[in-house]
Amino acid sequence: MEAAFKVSSGEISRLELDELNARFENEHPAKLLEWSLRTFGAKIALCTAFGPEAMVLLHILSELRPKVRVFTLDTGRLPAETHAIMQKIQDLYGFEIDVYTPDPDDVRELVKTHGINLFYRSVELRELCCHVRKVRPLQRALKGLSAWITGLRRVETSTRQDIRRIEIDTLHNNIVKLNPLAQWSERQVWDYIRIHSLPYNELHDRGYRSIGCAPCTRATNPGEDLRAGRWWWENDEKKECGLHAPSSSGLANTAFFDGKAE
Ligand code: SF4
Repeated sequence: MEAAFKVSSGEISRLELDELNARFENEHPAKLLEWSLRTFGAKIALCTAFGPEAMVLLHILSELRPKVRVFTLDTGRLPAETHAIMQKIQDLYGFEIDVYTPDPDDVRELVKTHGINLFYRSVELRELCCHVRKVRPLQRALKGLSAWITGLRRVETSTRQDIRRIEIDTLHNNIVKLNPLAQWSERQVWDYIRIHSLPYNELHDRGYRSIGCAPCTRATNPGEDLRAGRWWWENDEKKECGLHAPSSSGLANTAFFDGKAE
């Protein structure tokens, strides 16, 4: 029997959450996704940057529900190769991909005040850029949803080592956050891609392991960790953009531009 579960109120109890996580911890991601689609109906969406994890999730979702909602955040600074894989996915599965872009007034203000490549100058300015180009569009994308699906994995970075497959997203109005690949390794992801002959971002063939915006991503060297190519000029190991954890400058849940809080 299904666990009692208040989807929209965010009032799922810790006990219910524990029970659900115990139930799905060792299941294939498809089982969790199947349950999630059934539980949240039309109020669930996959958020993707078209990384390798998304290739797995999109493949599973295409078999479970061909019309599932998929959205992405186009920061305006993405590599052409990411747009290429986005198009390939749309052609392959027929998903209608919702593309959320930053508010043009916010970007104009940001660039006018701090310059087009502000992110190289300080962590605070880099986080500000991520806030304007990613975090605020995500806030818009999540409006009206009860749950969102991500490709986060525990071994990606120290800030993700404790993620659970089913979480309450306290950064985003306590909606449910699903991480079906939480315990998968990088190898499992790539094995799945190869077994199913799935497409992927061609930058991966050039040494890129984690891909974000073009000016903020480089290929990794042998022995470097998975996310070493992201904001590679910063020293802090806990590099985050504010989508999944608060940024160090605390911008994740706040509106930067006065009077424009959403
Ligand atoms: S990854 Fe770089 S360019 Fe993209 S939003 Fe963040 S700071 Fe800006």
